[in-house]
Amino acid sequence: MLAAELRLAGVRPLVLERQPQPRDTPKAGGLGGQILELLRYRGLLDRFAAACTDPIPAPRFPFGGVHVDLTQLVESPMHALPLPQQRLERLLGEHAGELGVDIRRGHQVLDMRQDADAVTVEVVGPDGPYRVTARYLVGCDGARSRVRDLAGISFPGTVYPEVNRLAQITLPDSVTRLDNGDLELSGFGTIRAGFTRTDRGLFGMGASPASEVLSVYTIEDETVEYDDDVPMTVTELQDSIRRVLGVDLPVAETFRLSRFTFKARHAERYRAGRVLLAGDAAHLFPATGVALNAGMLDAVNLAWKLAADVHGWAPGGLLATYHEERHLAGERTMLHTRAQVALRRGHDPAAEALREVFQELLTDEQPVRRLGAFIAGADIRYQLPNPNGHALTGTFVPDLTLLTDDGTTGVAELMRAARPVLLDLADRADLRATARDWRDRIDIRTGKVENRPADALLIRPDGHIAWAATIDEPADRAEDGLRAALSSWFGAPAATTIPVGD
Ligand SMILES: Cc1cc2nc3c(=O)[nH]c(=O)nc-3n(C[C@H](O)[C@H](O)[C@H](O)COP(=O)(O)OP(=O)(O)OC[C@H]3O[C@@H](n4cnc5c(N)ncnc54)[C@H](O)[C@@H]3O)c2cc1C
Repeated sequence: MLAAELRLAGVRPLVLERQPQPRDTPKAGGLGGQILELLRYRGLLDRFAAACTDPIPAPRFPFGGVHVDLTQLVESPMHALPLPQQRLERLLGEHAGELGVDIRRGHQVLDMRQDADAVTVEVVGPDGPYRVTARYLVGCDGARSRVRDLAGISFPGTVYPEVNRLAQITLPDSVTRLDNGDLELSGFGTIRAGFTRTDRGLFGMGASPASEVLSVYTIEDETVEYDDDVPMTVTELQDSIRRVLGVDLPVAETFRLSRFTFKARHAERYRAGRVLLAGDAAHLFPATGVALNAGMLDAVNLAWKLAADVHGWAPGGLLATYHEERHLAGERTMLHTRAQVALRRGHDPAAEALREVFQELLTDEQPVRRLGAFIAGADIRYQLPNPNGHALTGTFVPDLTLLTDDGTTGVAELMRAARPVLLDLADRADLRATARDWRDRIDIRTGKVENRPADALLIRPDGHIAWAATIDEPADRAEDGLRAALSSWFGAPAATTIPVGD
């Protein structure tokens, strides 16, 4: 994702991946949250959706052992795409390849050093060791990031002593599935659909009514450190079910066997000089469904800032905003995923009561909406300079429907090229004239919307609103605000004004 965004921004990245082939260990079963909106803005979502085997499900989300039913909202802040991670990685690889990214598989980073101008990386590839020098190095190298360690960035946090095992299975004829979803096992009795808690842990089971395939999972307290890239076996799953439920669950077929442990770790900083971190190298959250969203949004936030630096027009402090914004986003995600640990892990009557109360609160629309925004990462508003106090500054731009001279379009269309956009919604020639000195870096567009939220929006390539003109904001104030925002995000104005027809 980072490499593709860098290419869109006109930079030549090199990707070094130690695995010779894409891995096939199942990880995420899908992608959810605000990244889907961003992928749509880049024109990629249709292609990603076409690669899904299932339709986009009505989003229901586990939240610390209780279920958030987002279907009760007219407009849910949380969307999900059932795209298994291996397929997502393949699609992102194809996308980056089409943009001309140099992806070297089987090339492992061993060491690095940096000085004021560059980073030098020691690599070993199929033909032996070699050295690469680059302006920047971004460690997208996962939870055990070598780059993070070499940069001396600490990764403090908590490891929870619990192991989650997850699989999709079909059942042999010896097991009867009842109409209510429960299972009837001769010699044992009934296994209930939904959650079963025992002294040894938690068993969960569910399926859509028409499907033969059941999703099962277990959670047990264990202190073993597993490697996420070592696959789980069916025997390991059955042993775990036996320990939790005290029963041997016969299995006919298995798909997507996976195991994960929960850690809450957050890099103390996302940057050390010319070295930056993104994705699992920067954060590990103790709940499912949020990590890919957070990691890919890191990449989108970082790419255009790095590119601005490489192109030489980055204003002072631009790259520092990567840590400021994404570390804050990481803290938000950490907050609700840690809360999920507290909700999930207790086994006593008080913990049961807490879950019950929490579940009851989730019958009301407002808490569901809030939790949906939490999970989607849609609650995050970057703390950007905001002299006129506009409510949209720092938020993700909505896909407004725009009426233009060429017909109807949407904000999404304007963000395809991943360039900054000044969107004039009120025919403000004064603001368009102000922005002209930045024409080499930003696109200036006009359009009309129903119930316009602002006279103009300055949208960054990552889809966040850098500045917004309040409705009918006086020309001098609006021009000053826009000029300040353009300078602080996109550098000094061009030396010569490029003439454009108005
Ligand atoms: C079982 C399981 C289920 C999950 N479910 C979900 C889910 O439902 N939703 C969700 O959002 N997330 C989920 N996750 C988390 C998600 O898989 C990770 O957040 C995601 O893979 C992180 O991507 P990344 O690119 O940051 O790191 P990684 O995917 O770990 O990729 C890092 C890459 O760097 C390479 N690398 C490492 N060191 C070096 C080196 N020295 N030199 C060169 N290359 C190197 C590795 O080979 C690897 O390919 C799940 C994870 C697991 C294990």
